[in-house]
Amino acid sequence: MTQDVTDRRDRPLRDLRISLTDRCNFRCSYCMPKALFGADHAFLPRHQLLSFEEIARLAGVFASLGVRKLRLTGGEPLLRRDLETLIGLLRDIDGIDDISLTTNASLLTRDKARALRAAGLDRLTVSLDGIDDATFRAMNDVGFPVAKVLAGIDHAEAAGLGPIKINMVVQKGVNDGDILPMAGHFRGTAHIVRFIEYMDVGNSNGWRLDQVIPSRDVVDRINARWPIEPLAPNYRGEVAERYRYRDGAGEVGLISSVTQPFCGTCQRARLSAEGQLFTCLFASHGHDLRERLRRGDSDAALHEALTTVWSQRDDRYSELRTAVEQPIDSRRIEMSYIGG
Ligand code: SAM
Ligand code: SF4
Ligand code: SF4
Repeated sequence: MTQDVTDRRDRPLRDLRISLTDRCNFRCSYCMPKALFGADHAFLPRHQLLSFEEIARLAGVFASLGVRKLRLTGGEPLLRRDLETLIGLLRDIDGIDDISLTTNASLLTRDKARALRAAGLDRLTVSLDGIDDATFRAMNDVGFPVAKVLAGIDHAEAAGLGPIKINMVVQKGVNDGDILPMAGHFRGTAHIVRFIEYMDVGNSNGWRLDQVIPSRDVVDRINARWPIEPLAPNYRGEVAERYRYRDGAGEVGLISSVTQPFCGTCQRARLSAEGQLFTCLFASHGHDLRERLRRGDSDAALHEALTTVWSQRDDRYSELRTAVEQPIDSRRIEMSYIGG
């Protein structure tokens, strides 16, 4: 039975992002810079990660509190072997009507895409920060070529996972020259490029406000080249603003977490790979659910604990950051750990 819960700002709990690993085969400079995530970096040992069964059990309890959407992320989620097994377990949970995956697509072979789809994956988001090969190789910092990501996108589409959302984090002076080429590459396809404002997540990326290109500027640049017009949101709380090309060549999205924060409708919780629950992307501490699972808490006890955490939630970090126009000084959780 579902017993919906709301927080102190009357926001329900509808989405759960699940990070499957803190490891990644890329070293995107804004997320896992090599200087901090080098060869000697201590990633979580395997026994500290939640097992697929533990994740599925928690997801079931979240569904009983009102969660309808699950997004699997990381680190790089495709590094978890047999990911399709987890998707199969999640698919069987009552109340879950949407399962999606965010990936860098580097490991998305034809067989993997088919297996994920067959297990019940509904949608895919691929992160691709540049369409120019040299820019992209420099940004992922492991020399990974654009062509292989595009091949992964094709495999996903062929497996029935399209249309695909393609996320590009825009950093001034780094990849803003790729905004128009990226839009141009996917114009005329069903895929939707979403331009994301670079955020001050974690402590390692040395974020500064002047590295952010406001979505307004991205819209102006695209509109000057290919006229676009706004579209209504698909649903309440949708984080991307939607636009369509006036000539019918498809759609783009803007995610303006810095210049137009959407905390007012934020209905998302995050579960780290080791089972810590965070009620905000910018939280400085989590709630240990792995400990509860491993000491044998019942579903009813987990339900009660989650209800208590969510009903006390008051987070609205991005709104506060906009008010002071600089990162608020506190220790925060890294994006690769909490999963974006
Ligand atoms: N490795 C997978 C990937 O890159 O899609 C999943 C995890 S990654 C942390 C999830 C998303 O967070 C990616 O689209 C990434 O670009 C985004 N991201 C990471 N750091 C960010 C930042 N500082 N600002 C905005 N988006 C960020
Ligand atoms: Fe890895 Fe994704 Fe972070 Fe890039 S953004 S380092 S692909 S987790
Ligand atoms: Fe939600 Fe926190 Fe982001 Fe605001 S800052 S939209 S509360 S995750």
